[in-house]
Amino acid sequence: MRTRHGFAGTVGNTPLIRLGRLSAETGCELLAKAEFLNPGGSVKDRAALAILQEAELGGRLKPGGTVVEGTAGNTGIGLAHLCAARGYRCVIVIPDTQSEEKFALLRTLGADVRAVPAVPYADDNNYQKVAGRLAQELPNAIWARQFDNLANRQAHYAHTGPEIWNDCGGRIDAFTCATGTGGTLAGVARYLKEQDPAIRIILADPYGSALYNWVKHGELTSEGSSISEGIGNSRVTANLQGTPIDDALRIDDRSCVAMVYRLLREEGLYVGGSSGINVAAAVALAQQMGPGHTIVTLLCDRGATYAARLFNPQWLAQKNLL
Ligand code: PMP
Repeated sequence: MRTRHGFAGTVGNTPLIRLGRLSAETGCELLAKAEFLNPGGSVKDRAALAILQEAELGGRLKPGGTVVEGTAGNTGIGLAHLCAARGYRCVIVIPDTQSEEKFALLRTLGADVRAVPAVPYADDNNYQKVAGRLAQELPNAIWARQFDNLANRQAHYAHTGPEIWNDCGGRIDAFTCATGTGGTLAGVARYLKEQDPAIRIILADPYGSALYNWVKHGELTSEGSSISEGIGNSRVTANLQGTPIDDALRIDDRSCVAMVYRLLREEGLYVGGSSGINVAAAVALAQQMGPGHTIVTLLCDRGATYAARLFNPQWLAQKNLL
């Protein structure tokens, strides 16, 4: 028998998909790791599991305890699934700008969802800070703290990075992805650079995020805005600190939307906006590096989560992105 143990045992070991048309077009091997096939539907199942396991091992999270997190959605979804499976209460603080589908799903999964106004990190009422305070006030509660809890990047160093390396058979020239907490990029980049320092690590960033300018010019400044959810940041998180990053690419919403629809119409892959940014960055990188290179990125989550936005022509028309 070859079985997996419950939800937790089903996280990870996702397939690496060759993108046929885009590979043929660029002359590169364009490979995308299907993180949307994790049981909670996103790459964040990995961080959620690692954070809970670390808190359990350290004795901070006890049976019947409460897990509190400030999250734009996917980490909350992963945590809510895992809390249900492990008998914890789950409290999710989420900015009120996030998609309605994410709120509905979190409630269905049994989470106590607290919507707060979307205000900058510097504000005391920022969703992450509200989550931190709630965890202190509630009995027997931990704050998952995905942005600065290094269990997040450790999950990607221990699993996502090695899975990519093994599935590529060690033939990989570059890895690119967008970052929210930075956990994915930080963990994967560290692991890959240890295997071969020549592998290029490229941060992909939407407009409105400060990380592109941080990589390019060493300053945390931003221009414009983006419809993307769950990615971009105005600060360097503990997870992102010290990541070996060679360069950054900035992808605008038009390129992101165009790529999301190409993935759907040409590859039959129904994925969210950050996946569009990632694959657009991989293609831009292939054009920079020239034919003959193997470039890996991630498909972070499912398109269904964005049915009312990214996959709704009226909404796209309102944003002038149709
Ligand atoms: N894509 C989506 C859809 C996400 O929700 C997130 C996490 N917020 C990311 C990408 C980025 O992952 P990480 O937090 O590991 O940087």
